[in-house]
Amino acid sequence: MDIKERRKIIKNWMAQSDQHDQEVARLAKIRDEAYKLYRRDEINSLELDLIWHRYRYPEPPTCPPELRNMRCGAKNRKGQPCANRNIYANGRCKYHGGLSTGPRTLEGKARSAFNLPVSVPKPM
Ligand SMILES: [Zn+2]
Repeated sequence: MDIKERRKIIKNWMAQSDQHDQEVARLAKIRDEAYKLYRRDEINSLELDLIWHRYRYPEPPTCPPELRNMRCGAKNRKGQPCANRNIYANGRCKYHGGLSTGPRTLEGKARSAFNLPVSVPKPM
């Protein structure tokens, strides 16, 4: 499996997980509102049960088998594939992900500029 394919699978999986999280958050809000109504005695426990059943959380997406036990696989200094399993969205471990390309957004650039050392002129 080449690196582009790995990145595509990881990206797809992360998008699926995000979608699931958003859906759970949306349903949790509805269930929370229903619970508040129940606490205020505006609905009874049967109605609460019905609402909670109607808005139950979906099953989380299953991790694709290609991602299970995925190793970094980059060639290390010994010439062997890296066995690190702690990989990032770029498909490689922290040692083989390449250098940072720096801030991309305007806010990020401003933040990094703010961190530059400030030179104060010495008094004469
Ligand atoms: Zn690695």
